[in-house]
Formats: sequence, C-alpha cells, structure tokens
Amino acid sequence: MAEKHFPLNKEQLERVIAKYPTPFHLYDERTILNNLKAFQQAFAWAPAYREQFAVKALPNPSIIKLLHEHGAGTDNSSLAELYLSEVSGVKGEEILLTSNDTPADEFQKAIELGAIINLDDISHIDFLEKNAGLPNIICFRYNPGDLVDGNDIIGKPTEAKYGLPHDQLIEAYRICKEEKGIRRFGLHTMVASNERRKEAFLLTARLVFTLANELKDKLGIHVEFVNLGGGFGIPYRPEEEPLDIADIGEGIHQLYDEMMVPNGLGDVAIMTECGRAITGTAGWLVSTVIHEKKTYKDYIGLDSCMANLMRPAMYGAYHHITISGKENEPCDHVYDVTGSLCENNDKFAIDRKLPKIDIGDRLIIHDTGAHGSAMGFNYNGKLWCAELLLHTDGSIEMIRRPETLNDYFATLCFDGSLMKPLKA
Ligand SMILES: *Cc1c(COP(=O)(O)O)cnc(C)c1O
Repeated sequence: MAEKHFPLNKEQLERVIAKYPTPFHLYDERTILNNLKAFQQAFAWAPAYREQFAVKALPNPSIIKLLHEHGAGTDNSSLAELYLSEVSGVKGEEILLTSNDTPADEFQKAIELGAIINLDDISHIDFLEKNAGLPNIICFRYNPGDLVDGNDIIGKPTEAKYGLPHDQLIEAYRICKEEKGIRRFGLHTMVASNERRKEAFLLTARLVFTLANELKDKLGIHVEFVNLGGGFGIPYRPEEEPLDIADIGEGIHQLYDEMMVPNGLGDVAIMTECGRAITGTAGWLVSTVIHEKKTYKDYIGLDSCMANLMRPAMYGAYHHITISGKENEPCDHVYDVTGSLCENNDKFAIDRKLPKIDIGDRLIIHDTGAHGSAMGFNYNGKLWCAELLLHTDGSIEMIRRPETLNDYFATLCFDGSLMKPLKA
C-alpha cells in the first residue's frame, strides 16, 4: 500500500491559498530529498554513483539546484534544459545530453558546457563532429530490440525511435575509438517507463553489463560508467506497492559482482537518470471547485485544467484525489472531475468515488511532481499555474509565478494592444 498524504492540513493550506491563489503545484522538499537519498543509498556499493535528474520531469532551476546541492547531476534533452542546468550550478560532466533527433545548437551548447554527450544514432557522430566538434567523452544509447518486452507508455523497443541496435552500437564505438580518436566512453540504455517490476531493472543492468564486457573484449574500450536510465515507477494508486529501491540496488550489485568485477570492470561507475521516482510523489496540484453540474453524470468543475496536468487525458493515467479537510469522510459519491478546456477528455478523473464535494472545496490531485506542470501547454489560451516549494523548515517559496495573459500574448506579432502595458 502507498500512503497518499498531503503535507498541509486544511488550516495550513488555507493560509497558503490566501497568499497564492489556486491553482498551483506544491512540491515538498523533504520528499524530494528522501527520494534522492533512497537511490544514493541503494547504489552506495558502486565505486561511484550519480543520479542524473531528468530535467524534463520538473524543469525548474530551484528544484535542480536543490538536487545538485545533494549530489545529483542532470539529464537533458533540449537546449532549454541545458540552460536550466547551467543556471542551477550544474557543471561539466555532471551534465548529460541525452537527446534524439538533436539539432546542432543543442550539441553546440553541450560541448560549450563540457557535458557528456549521449548519442542516439551512428549517423550523429559525423553530425556532431561537423556542427559542434567532438567531445572528450562519449556515450551511446542502446536499443535492445527484441530482447525486452515494452509496456504501454514506452512501447516495444523495436518500435521505439530511441537508441542503436547492437551491431550499430559496436560499430559506433569502433568508429569513435579508431577513426575519431575519442578515448573516454560511457554506455547508456533506457527501456523502462513508470516500471514497478524489479526484474525490468535487473534485465536493464544485465544488458548493459553484457555490452560493457563486449566493448572491452572486442574493442579494448573500458567504459567509465553505465547509465541505467530512468523509468523507475511510482505507485499512483493507493493500492499499488512502491518500488523497493534498496532491493533493486542490491540485485544490481550482485550482477555487477558477477559480470563486471571478474573482467576487470570493477571500477565502472553507475548512473541513473530518474525523473518520476525523484519528484513524482513530491508534488500535488491544488485546485478549487468552482462548479458542480448534474446532467447525465455528476461533474465537478475545477479552476485548473489538463493544461496544468495532462497525464490523465493523455495516457488515461490515474491520479489520486483527496479533498482538503475531508480526508476521513466516506467516498460515497461518484464524480467526473473536469477542467475547463474545450476537449471532452479534459477530465482528471472519471467515475471516481469521493466524499460529497461542495463548491469552494480544495481538491488535491496527488503525484504531480514529475511530468505534471512540465507537460503544460497553452491550448485554448489556458495559462500555466504557479509552482510552490514547501521547504523542510515549513516555509513556502513560489518557484514559478503564474503565467499572465501578457505572457501569453507576448509572442503575437500584432499591431494593436491586447493588454497594457506589455512588458518589454
Ligand atoms: C524521460 C526520460 C527520463 C526520465 O524518465 P522517468 O520516467 O521520469 O524516470 C530519463 N532519461 C531519458 C532519456 C528520458 O527521455
């Protein structure tokens, strides 16, 4: 069972809302740091370990800085994310660029930052050399093809656009070593997404450890690190079990001792690049009920919409909902909980059993700390909401202000005035 808690009681939440109106995402510093620590402890056996936080999950410099101060680097997949890492104080090889279909300017920025570049295709070696120059250390993303089953979100590896198949991968390392003179290497794969089966991560480790051995035996390449990717799942539903990170770390430790150490690879560092497992359970979207509508069904209308949290509409994903101050009331009503977008799939929950809801209630949508606000969009002119960080000392800091109509109109090339004054 996964306890679904919210760090503020009704009275504390109302005090926050008096200062920062709903909707907003609230993040809990303590939960974020505990999640990071669980990974660091699980891999403490490794000669070196670093979590490269996947910036796309929660692209806010206050969060990146916090994680960096506690030993994390970053995994980036866009120019904006590289800049966010830079301003958050993440430096050099603590920054990883794992991109795909990568534009030249992303490679150029990564080279400028001294980041580790993780290439997604054999053809990108020449593209990188031509557009940005070659780095000191390079890494390739492995796509294991038929060797693993995919799940609903990431699909089958053979259908995935990511990574190099085995033979291309070996050839890519050969080219980098023998033709391009690169001397430092890493190895990457990511085949899981929101995965809660331990076996998936043991399989990932087995795949990369096998390859690390093959690179050593065939090409004399001694990789400096293996990156096991992200995709560590969280229990979105209260009845689901959380992943036992310590147990997974121990399982991977055994494989490392069996597969890496005997071949002289006992100094290879381990990396993960989790997003969801670090910040997912540490975020909540807080909204106010503004309408109740009874037609063929009972609809609860919120002051937020799928522009603030797209996962339910996009993936049919479950996000637990509680009502501030009604945590212990019986769930004896059934509602569809909706936003205001002109899309019928703008529903946070369908046929959800909840306590009786009244207008003005504060609805807490759980587990929005990763791929929540981050997936925001502006369709229908809906605006991004604020992000608040609850510090370990109980203070609240606004780490993203709510978007305004001025922000939204700012890119229009229109000779007239929509809102005044438009900021320069
Ligand atoms: C999205 C992504 C991640 C993070 O995935 P989570 O499910 O949030 O752990 C890590 N690495 C890469 C390359 C990604 O695209």
